[in-house]
Formats: sequence, structure tokens, C-alpha cells
Amino acid sequence: MELELTDEQKMVQKTAADFAKSEVLPKAAEIDRNHRHPKELVARMAELGLMGVAVPEEYGGAGFDTISYVLAMEEISRACASTGVIMSVNNSLVCDPILKFGSEEQKKKWLVPLASGQLLGCFALSEPEAGSDAAAQKTVAKKTADGDYLISGVKNWITNGPVADVCVLICMTAKELGHKGISAFILPMKEKGVRVGPPDKKLGIRGSQSCQIFLDDVKLSPSAMLGKEGDGFKIAMATLDGGRIGIASQALGIARASLEDSLAYAMERRTFGKPIAQHQAIQWKLADMATELEGARLLTWRAATLKDEGGRFSMEAAMAKVFASEVCNRAAKEAVQIFGGNGYVEDFPVERHFRDAKITEIYEGTSEIQRLVIAGNLLKE
Ligand SMILES: Cc1cc2nc3c(=O)[nH]c(=O)nc-3n(C[C@H](O)[C@H](O)[C@H](O)COP(=O)(O)OP(=O)(O)OC[C@H]3O[C@@H](n4cnc5c(N)ncnc54)[C@H](O)[C@@H]3O)c2cc1C
Repeated sequence: MELELTDEQKMVQKTAADFAKSEVLPKAAEIDRNHRHPKELVARMAELGLMGVAVPEEYGGAGFDTISYVLAMEEISRACASTGVIMSVNNSLVCDPILKFGSEEQKKKWLVPLASGQLLGCFALSEPEAGSDAAAQKTVAKKTADGDYLISGVKNWITNGPVADVCVLICMTAKELGHKGISAFILPMKEKGVRVGPPDKKLGIRGSQSCQIFLDDVKLSPSAMLGKEGDGFKIAMATLDGGRIGIASQALGIARASLEDSLAYAMERRTFGKPIAQHQAIQWKLADMATELEGARLLTWRAATLKDEGGRFSMEAAMAKVFASEVCNRAAKEAVQIFGGNGYVEDFPVERHFRDAKITEIYEGTSEIQRLVIAGNLLKE
């Protein structure tokens, strides 16, 4: 793994950092307060090539690598974790599987507008009774006499669901085959029989809208299938491997926001006649936050590098995600402590970081599931 960024990677990082600082950060508190989908920021991210960072230019993307994606995700999430996850879902959970498993026709029809940000995507795997146990799909696609599929079921907590144009949908086509009977489809959200529920009322990332999606005899032709019948579970798991790198970078962004806001506050706030940054107890917190953040970043870059090299990276992505998300939660908790009473009120940003941090330990596989993935790889012969 190269530890030195290329000129191109530094350029992507700077573009994302400048945009995040000047346009995203000033709006982050308002987006959170109003639970508002930041449509105008998503449009700007599209202009900057951030909605399909690692998708080749011929398919509407910016044509960069996964490290560039990770760098951009950290910058955007440092400013606003909600905007970060909107970007992450479109890049990792929608563009990536269509790029990897889609037909040429599907790439032209869907990937080009998704990666260029003309359309926004969502990814629907989870259900009321199928979260960690993702193979327990109850949404069923039945083949009709004319060869089409009729799909019915309920999907839960779907990020971007209320505002998405297109969905990568995972569901059961042959229950008797267990996880080998699961298939993936590209579903236009305007299709007859698709209904979205109201946005979930969430603890954090309140600007990222998620919802239930109700499917009632939604008719799709076989040309809507991603990969082959029965490939859906494999597609979902491969997609989540990449998605976990995106969420690890979101966690890096929240952890960095917690550290940087704490540093600034600790030098300003005075107790017992000196800035609190001069109390050793505060210095140790800052030192631990910075050290852990650096470790999490290295794991995330390593997983991104392996993804770009084209080999297996499930374990490394799980390691990056579990470590970065736990580092992020510790950093956000310590930031609240460093801010004291001011850490507990909405007037200061660390209260938001504390609420935003928690989701990184839950979605795209909980910390327990990441540890199962890691242990499974360790114990494999
Ligand atoms: C804000 C938000 C956005 C989301 N966005 C999306 C999205 O865009 N698309 C999508 O498909 N899903 C999405 N999800 C769903 C998310 O991925 C699931 O919530 C998550 O995978 C956990 O599933 P669950 O909630 O059903 O928890 P459960 O599976 O019910 O787990 C409950 C607890 O038991 C633990 N547990 C479960 N099984 C085991 C085991 N074998 N060993 C040890 N511990 C175990 C879990 O770690 C957890 O602590 C989102 C969720 C949220 C909250």
C-alpha cells in the first residue's frame, strides 16, 4: 500500500475539502435541525463528480479510484455526516453493483445518470425481519406466465428511499434454495406498486432520509434483473464489502470533526486560570483521539487499496468499518466531555457528532456482524 497520495488523489481531496468547508459545513446544523434532505448539496456533489467517484468516465463517473472516494467521503462527512451517507449510498451501494454486475444496456440506462448525479439511488436489502440475517428475505418476486416478475414485500430503513429515483432491490425468487434463491433487480422508484413510507425519525444523520418501501405486485421484466437469477445474495454481500469502506470513511469524517472541534474549544475555554488544553487530562483525550483516528484511517486506506487491486477485501473492509466506527464513537463521546455543558446542547456541533456517530456501528452490518466476518475469515482453512 502506498502511504503517499498521488497528485490526482490530493486534487480530489482538496476539491472535496474546499466544497465541504465553504458550502456543506455552514449548513450542517440547519440540515440536522430540520431533518432536511440537502438537495442543493447533492446537485453540487454531482457537478464535482462526487456521486460516482470511482466509476469510469465512460459510464458517467469521475474515473478516480477507491482511495479518492475514501478521501472525498472523509471530507464531506467531516462537514456533515448526513450528506456523507447520501453520497456513500449512491457510490457504494448503487453505482458499484451496477458497474460490477450490470449488463452493458443496464450500465448505459442506469449507471450513466446515477454516477453523474442526474439520478439518485437507494439500496434495499433490509426488511422488518431481515437485517443482520439478510438471507431471511420475505420480499418475493414471482415469475408470471409471460416471464415477468411480480414483486411484493416490505423493505426497512432504506437510506435515500424518500428521494431516490432508482433502487437496487434484493429479494427472493426461489425460497426453497435459501440464500441461493435470492436475486437482485434494478427498480425504478416510480414503477406502479411502489410506495414509500414517511421518513424515519432518527437519533442522528437526520438530513439523510430513510424510510420503509412497500412493494405491491410490482411488475418488472427479466431485463431489470442484475446478474443472474440466484446471484442476489452474492451481489448484496459484495456490495456491502465496498459499502463498509464508505461507512468507515464516514466514521473518519465524524471522528475528525470531533477532534478538530475539541482542539479549537480546548484552546479557547479557560478553567482555573488557563485554557483547558493545558490540563493533562484533556491532552490525553486529544492524543488518544488523534492516534486512534490515524489507525482507523490506515485500515480504511488499506481496504480501499485492496479493492482497487481487484482481489478479496471482505475481512479488511470489516476491520476498517468496525474499528473506524468504534473510534468515531469514542471520539464523539470524548468531544462532548471536553465541551462540558456546552457539549450537551445544540448550540455546539459536538452534540450532533455524538448523535451522528452511533449509526456507523449499526448500518451496513453491525459491529457484531463485522466481527463475525473477521472471525469467519480467520477460521477459514
Ligand atoms: C438509519 C439507517 C439507515 C439504513 N439504511 C439502509 C439501507 O439503505 N439499505 C438497507 O438495506 N438497510 C439499511 N439499514 C438497515 C441496517 O443495515 C440494519 O438495521 C442492520 O443491518 C441491523 O439489522 P437489524 O436492525 O435488523 O438488527 P438485528 O439483526 O435485529 O440485530 C439486533 C442486534 O443483535 C445483534 N445480532 C444479530 N445477529 C447476531 C449474531 N449472529 N451474532 C451476534 N450478534 C447478532 C446485532 O448486532 C444487533 O446488535 C439502515 C438502518 C438504519 C438505522
